[in-house]
Amino acid sequence: MKIAVLPGDGIGTEIVAEAVKVLKALDLSFEMETALVGGAAYEAHGHPLPEATLKLAQQSDAVLFGAVGDWKYDKLDRPLRPEQAILGLRKHMGLFANFRPAICYSQLVHASSLKPELVAGLDILIIRELTGDIYFGQPRGRRIAVDGHFPGSEEAFDTMRYSRPEIERIAHVAFQAARKRDKRVTSVDKANVLETFQFWKDVVTEVGKEYPDVALDHMYVDNAAMQLVKAPKKFDVVVTGNMFGDILSDAAAMLTGSIGMLPSASLNTKNQGLYEPSHGSAPDIAGQGVANPLATILSAAMMLRFSLNQPEAAKRIETAVDQVLSQGLRTPDIFSEGTTRVGTAQMGDAVVKALG
Ligand code: NAD
Repeated sequence: MKIAVLPGDGIGTEIVAEAVKVLKALDLSFEMETALVGGAAYEAHGHPLPEATLKLAQQSDAVLFGAVGDWKYDKLDRPLRPEQAILGLRKHMGLFANFRPAICYSQLVHASSLKPELVAGLDILIIRELTGDIYFGQPRGRRIAVDGHFPGSEEAFDTMRYSRPEIERIAHVAFQAARKRDKRVTSVDKANVLETFQFWKDVVTEVGKEYPDVALDHMYVDNAAMQLVKAPKKFDVVVTGNMFGDILSDAAAMLTGSIGMLPSASLNTKNQGLYEPSHGSAPDIAGQGVANPLATILSAAMMLRFSLNQPEAAKRIETAVDQVLSQGLRTPDIFSEGTTRVGTAQMGDAVVKALG
């Protein structure tokens, strides 16, 4: 088993170091190789995703990724910006299924922006299609309008599109994930307005017939946004397209209290995956040793479960994280009166200790 370790920029290096510490403490036999990505790679090699980094990722069973980006790169041409590295990895590794669990730990219910009773015990999984939709559809661009409300004026346009195989494969991923959980899938669309999402709904319904043990319901995206903040515990698995998933998964993230707690996984058809925290490189706190490493440590647990076939080891990490929270240890982002404030490395050490 081989893991490509890509820490990236900002707090990426600090949090990935803690996840690596935890992985090493498990006493499993895997090889880990580190490479530069994002702004760090741009500084060293003039590109955010150098050929050698991409090759390492493609030849590994899994990629453990920190975060990329810094405001100082905002003026670079778009293809050279750090964030392009993630898009490049998704594209070249064929990562089409993004898993974003939103779990509210009982110890952190008061950190949520919602009332504790609405989020206590929350455990939902948002599955976002990653390679299609309006983000990648062609044609796109700017032009002078020949029709519409203002012919002759400048306009910009994008194309929303999904093919049947794209919808089928993400639907299968969702139904199979639901089978390991509460056996409920909510497919989120905008079928009342968009042709693309009427098609999405039809195809998901067809695929659902192959999973009679899983309950399927459909919800318009505007209602889903409302229900996520009104009664989030009603959901089990939510499956949706690239753009709706982008937005809903960030909203779901906030239900849990801190973005520093949220892991994510992006998988291809071979179960090769990229595992990263849901947050960015947090330049505002980088280098201070205060970033929460738990999202990255929990991403490493997802990596063990989904790509490295080590579910027991994954469970050991998740239980250890639960224990350190019960011990009252908190990085500043989740700190509250009566708990113990710790830094990034202390949190990582505590998880290692709790592994037993
Ligand atoms: P961000 O997620 O980096 O930070 C948002 C806020 O959350 C900040 O106040 C930050 O301090 C805090 N935060 C984030 N992670 C934390 C952690 N582990 N512990 C404690 N606090 C944490 O988002 P941003 O500020 O909008 O973006 C900063 C940079 O990150 C930008 O360059 C952006 O493009 C990039 N970015 C990268 C990714 C990625 O690598 N996948 C994702 C989002 C943003």
